[in-house]
Amino acid sequence: MKALPLAATLMACWLLAACGRSPDAPDETSQVEADAHQDADAHADEAEHADSTVIPLKIATDSGIQVAPAAAGTIADEHEVQGLLTPVDGSIAQAVARFPGPVRALRANVGDTVRAGQALASIESNLSLTSYSVSAPISGVITARNAQVGGAVGEGAPLFEIADLSMLWVDLHIFGRDTQHITAGVPVTVTRMTDGVSETTTLERVLPGTATASQSTVARAVLHNRDGLWRPGAAVKARIVVASTPAALVVPLTALQTLEGREVVFVRTGDDTYTAHPVELGARDATQVAVLSGIALGDAVVVAQSYVVKADIGKGSAEHEH
Ligand SMILES: [Zn+2]
Repeated sequence: MKALPLAATLMACWLLAACGRSPDAPDETSQVEADAHQDADAHADEAEHADSTVIPLKIATDSGIQVAPAAAGTIADEHEVQGLLTPVDGSIAQAVARFPGPVRALRANVGDTVRAGQALASIESNLSLTSYSVSAPISGVITARNAQVGGAVGEGAPLFEIADLSMLWVDLHIFGRDTQHITAGVPVTVTRMTDGVSETTTLERVLPGTATASQSTVARAVLHNRDGLWRPGAAVKARIVVASTPAALVVPLTALQTLEGREVVFVRTGDDTYTAHPVELGARDATQVAVLSGIALGDAVVVAQSYVVKADIGKGSAEHEH
């Protein structure tokens, strides 16, 4: 039997009101289209239809296909930016020699975690000829050691540098008009380049002035270094959520598929019939997109494993074509 060309069939399906029928097409084919549009429960007919398919409930469930009613939502205005981790001002301290003299002992190494007050070095004072100890002024990690046992140090010589890295600044670079747009108090999700781990915090301030080299403005957030793996000097990427705009109808991005060059979502009718609906899309964010037309509030939209439905429709239309 001769079928309608695929493109014509698809067009007919999309233009629901004007279901175009080729005059030389067999009556049977025309009837299939008419049924599909008028009777959602005509499963056998839908299965042969190029933009729709029947997937039995159990198979759909086993494939991970999930549907959710199309609903109103919000689309976030998000900015992806890059930045750098830097130590918080005042979080770096030095342990210094109070009196000149030879170093008798050093009790910490670079990378060691030390407590405030912990003895780090013993030095024999040239003035009293007795040993005194140099202790850590703050708790943190030893980042530098500038003395050797037996070496002589002068008064005020920095023996150790200690950094408190329990909190870090995230300096994010903002360009152009985003500078007016992005303000303190908005949420920021910072992601490590090395392993993709993310932490969410709040933008604390937008620093005055412009960093001349890059012509960027710095927006700063404080990051709690919970796992100790955020390191000063490391580049990070961040997502700043500036605002959320209400949208009458949103679907998750996982619902979108491309069928014959058009963006579609699949709507389930009954408990096993899936039909492709071409959609006109509006604003989107990282997880969802506003739908301007093509589906209605409450439509059961496939939101997980939508490509399985697409593949099934593709298989069906291939059979339809022979
Ligand atoms: Zn924006």
